[in-house]
Amino acid sequence: MDYVEHVADLVGNTPLVRLNSVAAGRTPVLAKVEYLNPGGSVKDRIALRMVEAAEESGELRPGGTIVEPTSGNTGVGLAMIAQRKGYRCVFVCPDKVSEDKRNVLKAYGAEVVVCPTAVAPEHPDSYYSVSDRLVTEIEGAWKPDQYSNPANPESHYRSTGPEIWEQTGGRVTHFVAGIGTGGTISGTGRYLKEISGGRVKIIGADPEGSVYSGGKGRPYLVEGVGEDFWPTTYDRQVCDEIVAVSDADSFGMTRRLAQEEALLVGGSCGMAVAAALKVAESTGPDDVVVVLLPDGGRGYLTKVFNDSWMASYGFLSPDHSGGSVGDVL
Ligand code: PMP
Repeated sequence: MDYVEHVADLVGNTPLVRLNSVAAGRTPVLAKVEYLNPGGSVKDRIALRMVEAAEESGELRPGGTIVEPTSGNTGVGLAMIAQRKGYRCVFVCPDKVSEDKRNVLKAYGAEVVVCPTAVAPEHPDSYYSVSDRLVTEIEGAWKPDQYSNPANPESHYRSTGPEIWEQTGGRVTHFVAGIGTGGTISGTGRYLKEISGGRVKIIGADPEGSVYSGGKGRPYLVEGVGEDFWPTTYDRQVCDEIVAVSDADSFGMTRRLAQEEALLVGGSCGMAVAAALKVAESTGPDDVVVVLLPDGGRGYLTKVFNDSWMASYGFLSPDHSGGSVGDVL
C-alpha cells in the first residue's frame, strides 16, 4: 500500500510545469507550482520548519500553543502542522480580513482573535499588541514570527532550492520569485548560488512602490509581496536584480495564467511570471528560467477574478463583458 500518515507529510516536492502559452520564447520558463502543497501554498514549507526548529530549541513543548498575527497562507500552514503535532493555534488578525479567510483558519481548528484595524500599532487593541500580550498570557505559548525567524529562509535552503536543482538536472540558470518576508528568495537563492558556484542568477519580483525595488511603501494591490520595511528574513546579498511590476501587469498575467495555462493562481504569481518573462527576453535556448508560484487563485475570486473589482481599479476596459484576456489592459 502506498500512503502517508497525514497530509502534512506531503509538504514540498511540488512539480515544475512549463509555461507554453504565456512564455512562448526559446528559453523554457518552468513554474514551480506551490499551490499543490497540502495547505495550498508555499507557506506550508516554512510552517513545518519553523515548528521543527522551535521543538529542537525547546521554545515549543508538547501541549504548547502557537500564537501568530496572520490571516493568510502562513496561518493555514501552521494550523495544519499544529494539528499533526497536537498543538493549539491562536491567530490574531485585523478586522479588515475577510470572514472567508478567518473561517478557513477556524475550519482547520485554529482559534481566531479579531482586532480593530483602525488603531495605531502601539494601541493595546492593535493586532500587534494583542498577539504580544497573548504570548505572555498563554502558558506554553510560542510565536513563530515569520518576518524574523531564520527557519523561514532555512526551509527554502533545505527544500525548495535542492528540489529545483534536482528537477532541472542542474540546468537552471535563472530563479525568479516575489519578495514578501524574503524567505523564499533568500533561502532558495542562496542554495542555488552555492551549488552552481554562483552561476544561477537570482531575480526578485516586487510590486511597484515597495521598498525592495526602491519604493517608500506606496500602496499596491497585489497581496503577500512587497513591504514598507526590511525584514531580517530577507538577505540583501542574494538578488542579482529586482524587477518592479505594476498591479495592472500582475493581475493581467494572473488572469492569463488561469485562461491559457489552466493555472488558477494568486496575484503574486502573475507578478512573478511577468518578471520572469522580462528576464526571458534576454536569455538563450540553453538557459532555463524557474519561477515560483506561491499560492492558488481560489482565495482571490472576489478580486483579480472578479470583473467589477478589476474594472473599479481600471484594470479592465469599461465595456468588458467577461472572460476575454484581450480586454485586460
Ligand atoms: N506570495 C504570497 C501570496 C505570499 O503569501 C507570500 C508570503 N508573504 C509571498 C508571495 C512571498 O514569499 P516570501 O514571504 O517567502 O518572500
